[in-house]
Formats: sequence, structure tokens, C-alpha cells
Amino acid sequence: MKYISTRGQAPELTFEEAMLTGLARDGGLYLPAEIPVMSQDEIAALAGLPYEEIAFRVMWPYVSGSFAEDEFQEIIARAYEGFGHDARAPLKQLNENHFLLELFHGPTLAFKDFAMQLIGQLFQVALKRRGERVTIVGATSGDTGSAAIEAFRGLDAVDVFILFPHGRVSEVQRRQMTTPADSNVHALAVDGDFDDCQAAVKDMFNDFDFRDGVKLAGVNSINFARVLAQVVYYFSAATSLGAPHRKVSFTVPTGNFGDIFAGYIAKRMGLPIDRLVVATNQNDILHRCLSGEGYFKGDTIPSISPSMDIQVSSNFERALYYAYGEDGAAVAQLMDELKNGGFNVSQGAMEALRENFDSGRVSEDETLATIKTTLANSAELVCPHTAVGIKVAEDHRTADVPMITLATAHPAKFPAAVEKASDVHPPLPSRMSDLYERPERVTRIANDLGAIEDHIKRHIAE
Ligand SMILES: *Cc1c(COP(=O)(O)O)cnc(C)c1O
Repeated sequence: MKYISTRGQAPELTFEEAMLTGLARDGGLYLPAEIPVMSQDEIAALAGLPYEEIAFRVMWPYVSGSFAEDEFQEIIARAYEGFGHDARAPLKQLNENHFLLELFHGPTLAFKDFAMQLIGQLFQVALKRRGERVTIVGATSGDTGSAAIEAFRGLDAVDVFILFPHGRVSEVQRRQMTTPADSNVHALAVDGDFDDCQAAVKDMFNDFDFRDGVKLAGVNSINFARVLAQVVYYFSAATSLGAPHRKVSFTVPTGNFGDIFAGYIAKRMGLPIDRLVVATNQNDILHRCLSGEGYFKGDTIPSISPSMDIQVSSNFERALYYAYGEDGAAVAQLMDELKNGGFNVSQGAMEALRENFDSGRVSEDETLATIKTTLANSAELVCPHTAVGIKVAEDHRTADVPMITLATAHPAKFPAAVEKASDVHPPLPSRMSDLYERPERVTRIANDLGAIEDHIKRHIAE
């Protein structure tokens, strides 16, 4: 499989090359040149298989050529062995046709472990074979950073630097980033918001001297390998509810459009998904865009679902690429306009987006109310991001198609909001109950590209 850039000006790469490089050199995002399609029989055969086997069958066409078959099977096995649930991504029923897909049983209690644990193992095998060492730099609104640190800590071919917005992540999120003692882990608290952190990472990738000098690699959700890992649980969930013989819909609490874009890929692969519903908090650029108001940046307003406090959704570029008929030049022009504030989506592209996506926005009060009613009506304590999804799903679900809402984090990751809503304090799973006692290690740094690059150069292992 070859990988191409959404902006059409970067060289085609293999899966391994696209994974190791992250962002394309023309500023675009890598996508497979063709999306492989599974037959209805192949999809039906997934029902009831172990998660790891479903993962292998869904992802194999994308990675073959870069990894051997048994090597890839071992990578998948190692990636998910640390999860706290045998099903990896269990489904729970909320009411007659609304289900929760629990994606928080990994080591950092959020869905990002699904992709990051896999990427850690893929990087290790690929770099070992090449005899290379890389510097991983990522921006996080909270959960990506801890997931990356957990996935890469202690690997000797990798230094990992994580930029997070100072004071804008939850205490559990911060401690998960600042308490690992491994010397290849570097947590940077940036004086800015998540969009500043994300912009700094993008700028580092576009500073080719720096990029090549430190051998920069990216594991943000722009990395196609991450999107790919997330495609798997759409298949496991849908087939356990009767797909391909029955359609299902998904509602996805969304910030960077990564998780829901994985659902779009699953649909293009042949999984009968009826609707893909984008659920946003008050940072609603995606909801406004899908409502026909154009894609215009606003200010990021901190919320109780901080992992979705995003005003520029990196992966939306991938959806635009398909909506604009795979026209890289058109996407490049839109992204230029975005630098000046935003753009209107053409009528044809809007129609293409609306064929697949619906959207809804949830206020802070509605989020709290949903945590409370979900506990009362279904005996499930959910995190604020999941609550945003549940509210939008309830507004969109229909009687004839099961709705699956992605439960993106464990409630204990966001104890303040959960307790405020429900009067219940969500305990951490016992395997991480000493998190509040471990010493923290973090560098506070100005929102300044030069200062950040300098710090990285001085702290990578020789
Ligand atoms: C990252 C994250 C999201 C948003 O996911 P995207 O891929 O950015 O859309 C939602 N909920 C939680 C808990 C997250 O960590």
C-alpha cells in the first residue's frame, strides 16, 4: 500500500515511512492511496473473534509490505496485553437501542491507548530494524500525551517530548505525564492553550533543519497509523450488534476529528454504518461547519471536557480531501485560507460531508445533567466527554438503527466534573491508585518556538 498527502505535493511513502514521519512535507496528512474494501462475508466472519484477531484482519491490508504477517500479529498482541479488560473494547447497553463502547480500559484510561500502544510497538520494531533513533514530539490537550508517554517510556530508540497547555489539563492527566521516571520522557508545560501547543508542533515539523537534525517523528492524531488502529473497534462493535446484516450508527465525542474519521474509513471499507454523528462541546467549530456555517476558527473556551477544547481539527483536512474529490490543490488552498481565519465549504463538498456526518453541540450544563441522568437511568458513571456523546446520540438516534456512543475516557480521569454532576467520586482502578503520591517531573516553558526547539536539542540523549 502506498500513502499519499492530502495536499498532493509530497512524495508517496510506504506505511512504515508514513508512520515514522507523521506530517507530510507539503504540510498535508498522509492517507492510503486506496481504501481497501472488505466483502460482506469477510465482515460477517469477524463476529465473535478476539479483538486482536479482528485488529489483524482489518489492518493487515494497510501494513503488509512494511511488516511480516507473524511480526504484525505479535505487535498487536503486545499492544493490547496491558489492557484491564479481556474484550479490550466492551459494549454496554444504556437503553433499548443505545450502546456505550468502552474504550478506557488501557493503561491511561482513555481511548488513545488503542492507537498509542500499537504505535509504540510498531515504532520499536521498525526502528530496531533500521538501527535508527527518533525524537517524538506531540501536543496534547491531556490524553494523547499520557498515552504517548506510556507507550514509549523506556524504549531506547526514542525520546518523547510532550507539550501540554499549562493549567488546562486535569490533575490525573498531568500526573500521568509528569510521574513516569524514565529518562527518555520529557513533559513540557507550555504557557498557552492546546492550539498553541499543536501549532508549535506543526511549526517544528515545517522547520526542516530542526526536523532533520533531531529526527523528528510525530504521533499526534495526524499520524495515519493512529487513525488505522481506531478503525478496528468500529468493526468489533458493529459486528457484535449484527453487522453486516444490520446497520449501526456511531456518535463520537470529537475534538481533532481523528476518532470519527476512523469511523468514516470503516464505512468506506464496507462496514454498514448508517450515520456518523460528531458530538462537540462549546468549542464547536465542527458542528458549525457541518451546519453550513463554514470552517472559521473561534477562541478556545476551557470546558469540563478538556480533551475536546480544540478550534482547529487537524484530521478534518482528511475528510475535506475526500469531500473535495481527492483534490490536493483544493485542500492546500483551503488550508492557506485557514491561516487567515477560515473558509467556506463548497456546496458539493458540503453535500459529500452530509452524506456521512451529522453533528450536535452540548453545553456545560447539559453535560453535567447527562452525567447525572445516565447514572440514574442506566447505572453508568461516565466521563464528561462521553456525556457529550450520549446527549448528542440521544438527540439523533432512531428506533430502527442501534446507536453506539464511544465512551472515550474513564470517569476517574475527570473526577471534579463527575463528582460535581453526580455527587459520586469516581475511584481510580487499583493498578494506579498511588498516582497522587508519585513525584512529578515537568518543565514549564514559554509559548515560543525557539525556546521549545532549544530545550529539545539540549535534552535528547546523545
Ligand atoms: C482525544 C479525546 C477526544 C477527542 O478525540 P479526537 O480524536 O481528537 O476527536 C475525546 N475524548 C477524550 C477523552 C479524548 O481523550
